[in-house]
Amino acid sequence: MSTETFAFQAEINQLMSLIINTFYSNKEIFLRELISNASDALDKVRFQSLTNKEVLAADSQMHIQLIVDKAAKTIAIQDSGIGMTKADLVNNLGTIARSGTKAFMEAIEGGGDMSMIGQFGVGFYSSYLIADRVEVFSKHNDDEVYCWESSAGGTFTVKETPDAAIARGTKIVLHLKEDQQEYLEERRIKDLVKKHSEFIGYDIELLVEKTTEKEVTDDEAEEEKKADDDEPKVEEVDEKAEKKTKKVKEVTKEFEVLNKNKPLWTRDAKDITKEEYAAFYKAISNDWEEHQAVKHFSVEGQLEFRCILFAPKRAPMDQFEPTKKKNNIKLYVRRVFIMDNCEEVCPEWLSFVKGVVDSEDLPLNISRENLQQNKILKVIRKNIVKKSLEMFEEIAENKEDYKKFYEQFGKNLKLGIHEDAQNRKKLIELLRYNSTKATEEATTLKDYVTRMKENQDVIYYITGDSKKKLEQSPFLEEAKRRDIEVIFMVDPIDEYVMQQVKDYEDKKFVCLTKEGAKFEDTEEEKKQKEEEKASHEKLTKSMKEILGDKVEKVELSSRLATSPCILVTSEHGWSAHMEQIMKHQALRDSSMSSYMMSKKTMEINPAHPIVKELRRKVDGDQSDKTVKDLVNLLFDTALLSSGFNLEDPTGYAERIHRMIKLGLSIDDDEPIAVPVAAAAPAAAGASSMESVD
Ligand code: ADP
Repeated sequence: MSTETFAFQAEINQLMSLIINTFYSNKEIFLRELISNASDALDKVRFQSLTNKEVLAADSQMHIQLIVDKAAKTIAIQDSGIGMTKADLVNNLGTIARSGTKAFMEAIEGGGDMSMIGQFGVGFYSSYLIADRVEVFSKHNDDEVYCWESSAGGTFTVKETPDAAIARGTKIVLHLKEDQQEYLEERRIKDLVKKHSEFIGYDIELLVEKTTEKEVTDDEAEEEKKADDDEPKVEEVDEKAEKKTKKVKEVTKEFEVLNKNKPLWTRDAKDITKEEYAAFYKAISNDWEEHQAVKHFSVEGQLEFRCILFAPKRAPMDQFEPTKKKNNIKLYVRRVFIMDNCEEVCPEWLSFVKGVVDSEDLPLNISRENLQQNKILKVIRKNIVKKSLEMFEEIAENKEDYKKFYEQFGKNLKLGIHEDAQNRKKLIELLRYNSTKATEEATTLKDYVTRMKENQDVIYYITGDSKKKLEQSPFLEEAKRRDIEVIFMVDPIDEYVMQQVKDYEDKKFVCLTKEGAKFEDTEEEKKQKEEEKASHEKLTKSMKEILGDKVEKVELSSRLATSPCILVTSEHGWSAHMEQIMKHQALRDSSMSSYMMSKKTMEINPAHPIVKELRRKVDGDQSDKTVKDLVNLLFDTALLSSGFNLEDPTGYAERIHRMIKLGLSIDDDEPIAVPVAAAAPAAAGASSMESVD
């Protein structure tokens, strides 16, 4: 039989030298690629057999076999798929380059990962990561058996090989490079299949050695030994046996199925036990704990896909690290694993949801570029979000479960509110907050609304860094007096949520630490406030003069009951809490902060004795010097109690010290006694200590 030699198309040749010379360490991916090709070939013949049973006549089995030959240092991947004709071998494996060939090389040059190879439609060449010579025997129903062979270097050969016992399909024999012999180990292959190809829809069988013991008489054993000198190995186990029998160990070779777990998602949900879901979840997630909840569904009709989604019990350590994987949904196409980082199937805020989706409609060789515009993926994504939300709602049916879930993933839900306008309404229902009335168990907004007062038409909330601090906040005084419930928001991300969510069930959210927050007043109360405002005008004006640029304005407060004053921020600017958060962000944009850190408004409580006395002083003697000190002191104290940082701690301390002196009736001019010699007091102290002893 003649051997023909062909030159590789230029780009393919480049690709092969790139692969064969790479320092890339994750070479194990070759097996996934070849198994995936085998699975494709099986898909093709299965598809043909749907209309013509004859195509399976030569071999009715549909499987993938792996055969390791330690002596020859080869590993073979054999499938009973569609096979390739001689022309296919020449065209597919060497002379006609796909568009992906160049694109893949560019991707690698741009820092891309070798493991993406399959997505560029050149997966076959990954053989050269671990082999320096590859033979491809193939039998297509329309042709004889041919063998393609190449050691790279620019050429390949094709020859007819009638002796190769292949009824239908392809057998790829990889002659391993000297430093890649690890793939001759049974364990390594088993682990790899489990890792990358466990859910392939066809049996993956590995030829393994099995040792069995059987009892034979001495004679039989002797005969067998003569018949075959090395195998089976005979071991004398029991010599004193009366019947003169011996136990012999027999080593046989047989195929063992490696992927016993049939794809779970292809099965009917009602036949799957919780344990099976748990095992599957653990297999795909590497989690050691079971899942919290599962959602298994299929979509049929114009588009078909099946999907299993899991909510874990715990958030991963790297939940919000920028380097972490953006999603954990494995994408399959007709049982063939495509990728596990397809950002198009799942939004980032749902990155904690793990699962698989298997599409019947996507092309197997889907590439990165056409992923983005892919309409099928858009539909899949929409459904994944919808079903995930349903899953969370189901978890919420049990308060205890939901509490745990919310502790772990509440932040993700809030991120979802920030990012996903379409599902914002549903997500809001999933939020839980403590409040002045829900101090132990967090409340839903729905429940809050049912508890609203008759004339209350807004939802009050307050932000800060802990529930404990907020419970004491002066901003709550008037709300408490009126028995109005106020929601506590203690998560930094709540500030962002509130920027997106303006209302709930047509009730506006009002932040009690911001300007404009007020309670519904009766006509009489309104009139009273007008009068109060007028009578305090002189005070508020001179306070503003004293404080200057530090405040935007000074006003009478309608939210204070027991504190003399507070500082509020403008309705659309940052709250005190947000200002703290932003100050702690290393890379904050300072132009943004000057704009968002809007001036504060000082609100004073006209009913408070301090304010009353201050007003008396201002209305009376304009030249009273203590007023200035007192107003500044009130401002600094209000900064602290309203959740801000002091702008001038030294000045504050000085003012406080003056007050303390006043309290102790010490004259402000009293000189401070400076010690004559620095060492003297210490020595005196030491000696007095001694005398005590
Ligand atoms: P891809 O499989 O992504 O198309 P590959 O480089 O892996 O790209 O393979 C190139 C082509 O070679 C395939 O499209 C297929 O036609 C053919 N091929 C590869 N492996 C097999 C196989 N085991 N059986 C039949 N055809 C195969």
